[in-house]
Amino acid sequence: MSVDLPSKDERTAEQADAIEQAAMLIINARNEAAALLARAGMQPPDSGWWGSPCGVTLPPPPQDHRCGCRNYTGDGGPCRTRYADATGPDTGTGSGWPTARCGHLPSEHVET
Ligand SMILES: [Zn+2]
Ligand SMILES: [Zn+2]
Repeated sequence: MSVDLPSKDERTAEQADAIEQAAMLIINARNEAAALLARAGMQPPDSGWWGSPCGVTLPPPPQDHRCGCRNYTGDGGPCRTRYADATGPDTGTGSGWPTARCGHLPSEHVET
């Protein structure tokens, strides 16, 4: 899916705001759709368009290191999801996989 939006540097503050609000509408709609299925006793499939995974590619190393966030959590600002990141730098949190925080904006969670 490609969206013909002004690139990040070309957006006005108002446009940037509108993009984040539009992205939140899409994410909320997906969450509502999943909740509707859950209320009917069905488990939404975790592939396809149900989740709103983060689409950001992180700077290397390693090359093509995708943000591991599977679903946007937050209220319109930077995503609050924490995830186990087996490939990223060790953040020194101790046992288990190092965890990373997504911190990306809603507009980066729209594409599936
Ligand atoms: Zn995220
Ligand atoms: Zn992310």
